Amino acid sequence: MKKIIAGLIAGVLAFSLTACGKKSDDSNKIKIAYLPITHSLAVLETADEFAEKTGLQVELVKYGSWNELMDALNSGRVDGASVLIELAMKSKEQGIGLKAVALGHIDGNVIITSNDIQSAEDLKGKTIAIPHRQSSHNILLNDALAMAGLTIDDINVTELTPTEMPSALASGQIDGYCVAEPFGAKAVSLNAGKVLFKSEELWENSLCCGLVLTDKFIENNTDNAKAFVDSYKQAGKNLTKEKTLETAEKYLSQEKEVLELSLQWISYDNLDITEDDYNILIEKVKSYGLSENPPLYADFVKNDF
Ligand code: ZN
Repeated sequence: MKKIIAGLIAGVLAFSLTACGKKSDDSNKIKIAYLPITHSLAVLETADEFAEKTGLQVELVKYGSWNELMDALNSGRVDGASVLIELAMKSKEQGIGLKAVALGHIDGNVIITSNDIQSAEDLKGKTIAIPHRQSSHNILLNDALAMAGLTIDDINVTELTPTEMPSALASGQIDGYCVAEPFGAKAVSLNAGKVLFKSEELWENSLCCGLVLTDKFIENNTDNAKAFVDSYKQAGKNLTKEKTLETAEKYLSQEKEVLELSLQWISYDNLDITEDDYNILIEKVKSYGLSENPPLYADFVKNDF
């Protein structure tokens, strides 16, 4: 597909093209799927900055669950996504052409428990929620249990959607959870639970979400993909605390005090995926039973735009 001169799309025109949809201008547009969580703020920030700088347009497509988002990514209805990296690894393992081109964020996860749980040992026999088996939240929970010599078999694990978790904890249906933010901060602000562990206390340089692009998009739009990834990494650097809160308030329907608390736990300033950190993820994915055959760094991570 030939590159069309960037200046063709001005803001108003871009909006109307989004509305009616079609292919003649797709080479000036990149469709990115996301969930409204703090973990996707770098991509949301990029969308704001990108058109201004390059004339290319990011069309953000919001989803309500990881499964819906993965359907769109796997079937090529979007060009990329900010997504749990384990879900993308699983798709890659199953033959879908995807590349992880950057981290979604640095740190930014917490394990939230009811106020009576004081230590990893106290998790024994409890019911803990995660969003998906293929997630760093599952890994972090396994890491916490390992600190006390426990395994996932010593607790009850349940999968819930992020929005259900704070109220499930408040009602006593579950004893804790680990999930994308700001849903951990939400329970703290409701006084329904507390932070038992921050992710960096369990797993230094943890990976969680990644910016993932389809091989098809990278092959057909290499220059645009490079411009987008460069802009994305720069947007991460631009996310100062103030800017992060502003972007979060714009895109996430959450109270300011919840966002302010949650944003203390996360940063975005260096979103490169290093081979060392990825290899630690591979070990954890294997040892905790998420996958027996995760994709290798060389096959799945693209750092060489
Ligand atoms: Zn994440």
